[in-house]
Amino acid sequence: MLTAITNVNIYAPEFLDNQSVVVFDQTGIKHVGVDIPDHLDVKLYIDGSGCSLTPGLIDSHVHITMDPDPDPWPKLQESDAMISLRGAKNALQSLRAGFTTLRDMGAKNHVDIALRNAIRQGLVPGPRLLVSGKCLCMTGGHGWMMGREVDSPDEARKGAREQLKATADVIKIMATGGVMTPGVEPGAAQLTYEEMAAAVSEAVKAGKKTATHAQGSTGIRNAVLAGISSVEHGFYLTEEICDLMRQRGTFLVATLAAPHWIIEHGESAGIPAWAVEKARHSSAAHVESFRLAMREGVPIAMGTDAGTPFNAHGKNAFELELMVRYGMSPSDALASATVRAAELLGLADIGRIATGMAADMILVEGDPIEDIRLLQSSIRTVIKNGTIIT
Ligand SMILES: [Zn+2]
Repeated sequence: MLTAITNVNIYAPEFLDNQSVVVFDQTGIKHVGVDIPDHLDVKLYIDGSGCSLTPGLIDSHVHITMDPDPDPWPKLQESDAMISLRGAKNALQSLRAGFTTLRDMGAKNHVDIALRNAIRQGLVPGPRLLVSGKCLCMTGGHGWMMGREVDSPDEARKGAREQLKATADVIKIMATGGVMTPGVEPGAAQLTYEEMAAAVSEAVKAGKKTATHAQGSTGIRNAVLAGISSVEHGFYLTEEICDLMRQRGTFLVATLAAPHWIIEHGESAGIPAWAVEKARHSSAAHVESFRLAMREGVPIAMGTDAGTPFNAHGKNAFELELMVRYGMSPSDALASATVRAAELLGLADIGRIATGMAADMILVEGDPIEDIRLLQSSIRTVIKNGTIIT
């Protein structure tokens, strides 16, 4: 059934001057223009007066099976069945908030893969989900509680092959320590260049993208040289690393919201003191790295790390407010959560409003380029694959 949204400002994600009509159904966007062509038999009209239409938002880094508790680790002891039900709840919250696509960056026992398949089969409602399966980490390294520990290039190769066999969409590789694992340092390198290169080569052969959790400079550089598709977090970037990333088209997914909420709430809210200390210690460098990457022209895709303490599913668009606060233009921020993210994820049919694209769109009251916070507060309608969700 064809639906038309009329009288609307269209951000495709760039502003389409003098165009105000989009016609779509579940097979995709049929027309974008000034009025509705005669041959299109529209059954439902939505008046978009006073609203803006943007592509559905894409968060390139979430942990959909984790609740944003002060200390997420106790719930990791729950059964896989329980964790998958939490994931379904979090997926729906994210979709209702306008996030029609999420990339999950690591879950226990392939619960993420089951959730992705359940959404695809229509068993539970949720966004398009790309999932990594178990992250590859060194023994005792960051993420080991839900990861696959590997300690040589051969083991890394096997670990990557296991995730691909389980139908992971992306391979997640831990290049450094991190904030939320006790006893590991964010700045310290973990998996070696050789281990990461082995895992990346398996992903490349399978036509899949790779992502690295990488905070310290040595680990980031190792991962970029190993051919990683995106650097997640990137606390300690350097000009040399940014040069390499720009030349190779390596994305930064900064996840500014993750340390923001840890520092904002602190130990008094129940976040482990060691995590708060690590977040505080790296926070200034993290923001500076984000600004450096912008100046140096590194491609940037929006990602939140939702599921870390107080980093709630459904509040993902707060990351865009932070990106703008730290110097990104609102239109670049919107692009980072739409067309740029689609590019990072390797999805050619989403991230833009244009004829032939999948109909993933959100209708926002007001103009989010005037005030990016409207993407948190004023979403009126979410459309995923031509179906009206809210
Ligand atoms: Zn993460």
